[in-house]
Amino acid sequence: MTKVLVVDDVEDNIVLLTFELEDEGFEVIAAHSGNECLQLVDEVEPDIILLDIRMPGISGLETLEQLKAREETREIPVIMVSANTADNSVVRALDLGAHDFVSKPIEYPVLSARMRSALRLVNARRALVRANQELERLATQDPLTGCYNRRHFFTLSEAEFSKARRHQRSIAVLMIDVDLFKAINDSYGHAAGDTALTVITECCRSATRESDVLGRLGGEEFALTCPDADLDGAFYLAERIRQNCESKEISAGGKLFCVTLSIGVTMISAEDEHFDQLLQRADSLLYQAKALGRNRSVACEELSA
Ligand code: GH3
Ligand code: MG
Ligand code: MG
Repeated sequence: MTKVLVVDDVEDNIVLLTFELEDEGFEVIAAHSGNECLQLVDEVEPDIILLDIRMPGISGLETLEQLKAREETREIPVIMVSANTADNSVVRALDLGAHDFVSKPIEYPVLSARMRSALRLVNARRALVRANQELERLATQDPLTGCYNRRHFFTLSEAEFSKARRHQRSIAVLMIDVDLFKAINDSYGHAAGDTALTVITECCRSATRESDVLGRLGGEEFALTCPDADLDGAFYLAERIRQNCESKEISAGGKLFCVTLSIGVTMISAEDEHFDQLLQRADSLLYQAKALGRNRSVACEELSA
């Protein structure tokens, strides 16, 4: 049911409004002053507020100003109720962010139509915000694993790299590739391969911090950017991820199997000017790990020329 917070200092007005609005199917909560409205609003979480302009204590306009100043209450539509539309209070209320106004004596069918119109607008705005969030998710995440996609991984990692250089802090990068993944697909099927990729993502996630940036760069290749990690810390992290993964039994299509990872690990050095240099170095180290027999991590700060 739609919740209305009715704010009016005159009890008779509240009684009448409650009667009429409940008849229209609204749930009504009453506040007898601006202060009471501000106290109740977080607890009640109203869908809409009807706010009398002229009240003793803090006025309707001041109450409105405070509602609009806080993020938690800013989006709640407010309809002002005014006995006097001749002064400029209605104009000020609308300029302060009130959605609409009705004048006293209230014509209830007009009031409820204006409330419905305000609610339609709020719902449309909420749907738009949700749609934008979903679009953002689709544009930045890999649909299979929920990791950042390649593009967003680079955007975030480049920003972290610049921050690290500016503040002379460390930053490390892990390049992670699944070993002999083609054989996994060939033996257990592509769907089982997909399941393995989600399990590998979990192995990475459970070992990383909130500030680490995990991306799926493509196929069975992941990269992890770790702000503030040095080479020892990053190598230790790589080994935790690798061991996590090695010890997981993956169940897919009625079969059990394991996968292993090879990981190249590097950290920022004085010569690095671009994030890409770190990533390329991590990639070369990854291929050393493959050449040394797979299922291992290889770490190095710099590569010899
Ligand atoms: P290596 O140890 O040298 O990395 O061997 P590999 O078999 O992992 O490497 P290769 O690059 O030859 O094969 C990668 C395989 O990953 C081939 C491809 O079919 C598979 N692959 C890539 N993307 C996906 C995916 O989204 N799902 C599944 N199931 N398989 C994928
Ligand atoms: Mg591979
Ligand atoms: Mg590969």
